[in-house]
Amino acid sequence: MLKIYKTKLDEEKKLLEDELGTLGQVDKKGDWEATPDDKMVTQEVQDEGDMADRSEDYEERSIKLNFLELRLADINRALEKMNGGNYGICEVCKKKIEMDRLEVNPAARTCKEHMDKVV
Ligand SMILES: [Zn+2]
Repeated sequence: MLKIYKTKLDEEKKLLEDELGTLGQVDKKGDWEATPDDKMVTQEVQDEGDMADRSEDYEERSIKLNFLELRLADINRALEKMNGGNYGICEVCKKKIEMDRLEVNPAARTCKEHMDKVV
């Protein structure tokens, strides 16, 4: 039973890490950071218009990266719970999370009733 969710989580984790890898890299503290465009530090920096485009690009990558990082944190949290034996328990009311909710989001931290209570 749990195995299905674990497989799902492992798969999504791998996908997320792949995608994160294309957007940035892990720093020494284990946080993901968007990598600046390589070309940004070359002679092309001379062109100011070009430069603005690139930093906008970087900005976009940072936002996307942050989003993916949060999702990855949720997944890691769910995987830790599996190891700890408290997977599928709502963090607010400590009741079991509905099956169909876990089906849609195996990394869910709360039951349906409390899904808006945890950010
Ligand atoms: Zn709850």
